[in-house]
Amino acid sequence: MINVTKTFLPDQEKYLQYVREIWERGYVTNNGPLLQELEAQLKDYLQVDHLYFCGNGTIVLQIAIKALEITGEVITTPFSYVATSNAILWENCTPVFVDIDAKTFNINADLIEASITQATTAILATHVYGNPCDIEKIEEIAKKHNLKVIYDAAHAFGVKYKNRSLLSYGDLSTCSFHATKVFHTTEGGALISNHPELDRKLALLRAFGHQGDEHYLYAGINGKNSEFHAAMGLCNLPHVPEIISARKEIFDAYDSILNWDILFKPAMHPEIEYNYAYYPVVFPSEEVMKNVMEALRVEDIIPRRYFYPSLNTLSFMPRQIACPVSEDIAVRVLSLPLYVGLPYSDVERISNIINSHLLP
Ligand SMILES: *Cc1c(COP(=O)(O)O)cnc(C)c1O
Repeated sequence: MINVTKTFLPDQEKYLQYVREIWERGYVTNNGPLLQELEAQLKDYLQVDHLYFCGNGTIVLQIAIKALEITGEVITTPFSYVATSNAILWENCTPVFVDIDAKTFNINADLIEASITQATTAILATHVYGNPCDIEKIEEIAKKHNLKVIYDAAHAFGVKYKNRSLLSYGDLSTCSFHATKVFHTTEGGALISNHPELDRKLALLRAFGHQGDEHYLYAGINGKNSEFHAAMGLCNLPHVPEIISARKEIFDAYDSILNWDILFKPAMHPEIEYNYAYYPVVFPSEEVMKNVMEALRVEDIIPRRYFYPSLNTLSFMPRQIACPVSEDIAVRVLSLPLYVGLPYSDVERISNIINSHLLP
């Protein structure tokens, strides 16, 4: 089977060396030495000063909302993974969906101001497929209306925007290190902050909100991660450059074979160093997309409807807000298989199946 993704696994012996170290120490979690080493290496790799390795890419969204004391309405994007809006709901805030830009699939910054009310306290936007949002415009709006900005940068590991890690923007950025992402720790995530004064709070919120047995300061949660997960990260981090270049080759191969007279892709920001996290293609209609999906399935090739459905249409959202662009893209986009080790011959085969099913 060819799946949309396949987890990169490092050299087993290297991982086992870390496991033996963990056994010798008998210390498996709670801010252990491997976790601290991973945080140090991540800060160095990403060139950021304040980073917290946590349990996953969803709990970090919740901690970010909590840390910035966000309440009421949060402007957000309907074109993201459901974790983005669910985190808003779990923090008892109301997601207010603003439609996306038809070219980049990121939140349309020109539409944000019209959705701001007295109750709006923040903007939570996703850098979709690792493609930066309109950061300057969002910053300007946030400043003008006194709003906090959180970026769900789950897709953005290794992306540079204006020579800085894309994870370094906003009041807080969050990342996911899930097994399906470009860099992974099995399960995992990180908070990246631009506010030194939040350091202690973030560290405390991640670990139940207390320091020792005496000082209970915040309603914290268990957002910690273990030595085993940190070990996976330490094994994988040195491979990131080769992972990204292997992905680029596959990306370029799809680019050269697929029929762009009929298909289209989101427009990438011109000022980025990209990580080739996903290969989304948009079909002329949902019908054509479904025909292609079926033709691929017969060959045991499983792409992913990513993102689908448009989050504003989910029944459990407290407010139904129409987002026609997002709804239109969501029903006809597919992310194609893209992972280290996917042979060129398979990319060719997948592309040819797609090209031969482009008419309804
Ligand atoms: C993967 C992902 C998440 C969730 O991350 P987990 O580590 O799986 O909890 C959140 N937002 C986006 C955009 C994602 O792609």
